[in-house]
Amino acid sequence: MTVPRPELADILAAHQAIRGAAIETPATRSVLGTATAPLWLKLEILQPSGAFKLRGAANSVAMLSPEARKRGVVCCSTGNHGTALAFAARASGVPATVCVSELVPQVKVRAIKAQGAHVVQKGQSQDDARIEADRLVAEDGMIDIPPFDHFDVIAGQGTIGLELLRDLPELDCLLVPLSGGGLAAGIALAAKTIKPGIRIVGISMDRGAAMAESLKAGHPVEVIEVPSLADSLGGGIGLSNRLTFDICCDLLDDVVLVSEDEIHRGMQALFRHDRLVAEGASAVGHAAILAGKVRLTGPTATIVSGRNTDMDQFTRVVTGKSVTLGNLVVKGK
Ligand SMILES: *Cc1c(COP(=O)(O)O)cnc(C)c1O
Repeated sequence: MTVPRPELADILAAHQAIRGAAIETPATRSVLGTATAPLWLKLEILQPSGAFKLRGAANSVAMLSPEARKRGVVCCSTGNHGTALAFAARASGVPATVCVSELVPQVKVRAIKAQGAHVVQKGQSQDDARIEADRLVAEDGMIDIPPFDHFDVIAGQGTIGLELLRDLPELDCLLVPLSGGGLAAGIALAAKTIKPGIRIVGISMDRGAAMAESLKAGHPVEVIEVPSLADSLGGGIGLSNRLTFDICCDLLDDVVLVSEDEIHRGMQALFRHDRLVAEGASAVGHAAILAGKVRLTGPTATIVSGRNTDMDQFTRVVTGKSVTLGNLVVKGK
């Protein structure tokens, strides 16, 4: 059974549909590039919700039927997807519920509520929050909007690829932070349709990278989650992944893994040289280039995917202090 994938027409439609919720972001030059191989920064940190996930969430909300809009949307992400869905739902007057466990700190709960979403706190784990979200879908008819493995989400993220190749048709390589693969799948579908020869490189941290491990295994696998400077890249891809695994398998030219030390250095470069405040996930392109794991051979863009960083940790990194991640100490420089 083949599952339909977004086509260029779906991504073009998404680009219209998300206007008013998400913005078109600029691409600016990084000091890391060279004259013949400029490096462009696609500034998704400028999205009103602080990350590109607003594109996929806004498109998913826009595609709801009038009847589904009344029932409302639900998710169980406390990260950038939860914020994005709350933002997108509020922008189009759709009720949104975010299910979280009782362990989620009240600051996070208040932040989601501040975006106008209803928060349901249930149980002691993310799995308990998931069960509650499933119950709201089954009993109240709410529409579940997952963070990556969803046609409209992928089409929404694909609008980044459209904008990049419209503004910079000379690009021959795109560096894409990779977690569940919605971002990479959407961008690759758009970019490779417009310019089949373009290279797409997914970049993850070297510990607990579910998509990278799954691509190596040839099927979705579970990984043990460990704390990372690129915390937005954590989490699994789902053992019954429907779309992003196959699309990434078909369309990614390479997957590169970077260490926490390398991400630390990438975050410093993004801040000290490019003068941008961004989360660790946004700096994996810089990390890979500085580590010599990606070579700049022609016009390249890296997706500076979000800015929703813990500012205490961010300050420690950019001022050269060490950071403790579980039992790993990342030495400052
Ligand atoms: C979600 C996220 C990613 C990864 O996107 P996927 O679609 O899960 O691969 C990268 N950067 C940031 C800031 C994110 O929030």
